[in-house]
Amino acid sequence: MDFAKIFLKPKKEDSLLRFHPWVFSGAIQRVVGNPKEGDVVDVYSSGNEYLATGHYQVGSIAVRILSFEGEHPDQAFWEKRISEAFLLRKRLGLVDNTFNNTYRLVHGEGDCLPGLVVDVYGPTAVLQAHSVGMHMVRMELAQAIVKVMEGRVENVYYKSETTLPFKANVDSENGYLIGECDDQCLAMEYGLKFHVDWLRGQKTGFFVDQRENRSLLEKYAKDRNVLNMFCYTGGFSFYAMRGGARLVHSVDSSAKAIDLTNKNVELNFPGDPRHEAFATDAFKFLDDMEKDKYDLIVLDPPAFAKHREVLRNALQGYKKLNAKAFEKIKKGGVLFTFSCSQAVNKEQFRLAVFSAAAISGRNVRILHQLTQPADHPINIYHPEGEYLKGLVLYVE
Ligand code: SAH
Repeated sequence: MDFAKIFLKPKKEDSLLRFHPWVFSGAIQRVVGNPKEGDVVDVYSSGNEYLATGHYQVGSIAVRILSFEGEHPDQAFWEKRISEAFLLRKRLGLVDNTFNNTYRLVHGEGDCLPGLVVDVYGPTAVLQAHSVGMHMVRMELAQAIVKVMEGRVENVYYKSETTLPFKANVDSENGYLIGECDDQCLAMEYGLKFHVDWLRGQKTGFFVDQRENRSLLEKYAKDRNVLNMFCYTGGFSFYAMRGGARLVHSVDSSAKAIDLTNKNVELNFPGDPRHEAFATDAFKFLDDMEKDKYDLIVLDPPAFAKHREVLRNALQGYKKLNAKAFEKIKKGGVLFTFSCSQAVNKEQFRLAVFSAAAISGRNVRILHQLTQPADHPINIYHPEGEYLKGLVLYVE
């Protein structure tokens, strides 16, 4: 089969020689052939030297690299990459674990599969394509997952309606590619159970990436009054309850999320009077709440900056949000504060939180610096893959 060839401008091969997995459109000198979005293409230096093979895209990132070794993806290639990803999760102790059936099996560039995310919830894998290239091979990927998982995964649900490039104009209807699972599928994380709604829920249905940070919170929860802001389906709240919190309040603007949070309370702590959930805007809740009511607060907002252009506003947003928490948290309180915006780096986030602390004038110490868990690995050649940042702060 003939693959289109992408020739780079002189000196533009350096990032590929360092295994960075993206080719930007501005680096391209000429294209030989007529690739369509999603096609496999070969990338060459201006001196006609082979560099890499990847999926072609229309947009600022023009090629997402799949191989630096001349491999053109076929079924064996997908199986190999997915089994490498699976082996890592096994080594992390996430597979066949009585207390945990939920983990990320494939994390895009972090698993050398740019454009692909796969989360596993017990017998169901939810597959999400962020590129047309991955969309086109979704069935091959689903089959590879089932084969590699050796009976552990029976259903593969495809959920890419909102993650594929808007202009790509491909038929990306959500639905099962293999098998089917009724609504009763439960995710388990460190022994806590969650209803996961991958059909209607956010992301693949659950924020798998906060597992270790939620678990850390459990250790801080004893005898605390806990406020879990942006709770989604209540993740942090249940760790707080198990950790011995005195009361736990969960807040989210989505009524559906609050509904699921309440269902999850019944699943884990039926009839426990310590928990209450509020479907309301976080900023309003923080404005209205009395001072010193809570001494453990979680702030886990959605990505304020989806693109670089809105970075300034996003940083203002983090500053404003954190300033409200610093103003109201009880003396000796602990604040878990996060940003999942890829466009905001660690230093920028810390500066926003620093500015918020300075406004409050309180004595604040950093206890932990948090990030994404090991099943969301960061390819060292692709620092952009580091997106989740968190600080645990002691506020006097
Ligand atoms: N902490 C959660 C994940 C949070 S995701 C977990 O561990 O699972 C971010 C959540 O913020 C979403 O559920 C979204 O509905 C909610 N959200 C977005 N804007 C909000 C706002 N202005 N006020 C309250 N919640 C908001």
